[in-house]
Amino acid sequence: MLENIRPLRYNPAVMIDSHTHLYDPVYDPDREEVLARARDAGVRAMIAIGCDLETSRLAVESADRNERVYATIGVHPHEVRHINDTTPAELERLAAHKKVVGYGEIGLDYYYLHSPKETQQKQFRLQIRLAKRLKLPIVVHSRDAREDTLAILKEEDVGTVGGVMHCFTGDLEMARAAIDLGLYISFSGVLTFANAGALRETARALPLDRIMIETDCPYLTPVPHRGRRNEPAYVRHTAHTLAALHSSHPPEEVIRITADNAARLFRIEI
Ligand SMILES: [Zn+2]
Ligand SMILES: [Zn+2]
Repeated sequence: MLENIRPLRYNPAVMIDSHTHLYDPVYDPDREEVLARARDAGVRAMIAIGCDLETSRLAVESADRNERVYATIGVHPHEVRHINDTTPAELERLAAHKKVVGYGEIGLDYYYLHSPKETQQKQFRLQIRLAKRLKLPIVVHSRDAREDTLAILKEEDVGTVGGVMHCFTGDLEMARAAIDLGLYISFSGVLTFANAGALRETARALPLDRIMIETDCPYLTPVPHRGRRNEPAYVRHTAHTLAALHSSHPPEEVIRITADNAARLFRIEI
């Protein structure tokens, strides 16, 4: 219940923002300040997530330049129609960088359908296979595509590399099905929204050792900053909401567990 959640009065010491688009040009004027605020808020690591070849390159560059930033490479379901014969080899070449810790975001988005369903499904499978060959955990984006997402994850047997359902907004049944397939569940700023009571109940019911937090910045800015640009420091609001939902543990411990989960999946030292 939102009513139980008191204002945030502390900065948790250890957080990982498991999903950012830090290379976005919206940060060009003040990226250093954004990173400094993340550090001051207790964010030990941030993952910059690739959405196509170009942003995968930018994510890797961002990780190369900044100690606390790690990268993933991959092609978002919106962009899969642009994949050509050379794309997989280029992604594989980028994956050789030591700070590439995951493959994604990949998946299915039937809400926007920027790429046809069949292309999305085919490329989701092919990219899972490439991730498995590269031994990288996957970052899954799924919107209005629950059954097909779960079916493909199951058929492609992703348990061997693991992964995370990012910006999770589904129900408890879907979360449990994803966990059974070996995935983590990551909550974004949506968890703090006034109308997200059902999502909070799902987060409350899930085991802490399968939960992560993220901003998906610059999108999905949490309460109390809604309407402004999002940034990694604000992940503490999602952290705080989650901690209030798992109030049988001290808040610092809840938040620490989410960081440990992300560190374990992406093999990051924090
Ligand atoms: Zn996404
Ligand atoms: Zn994203």
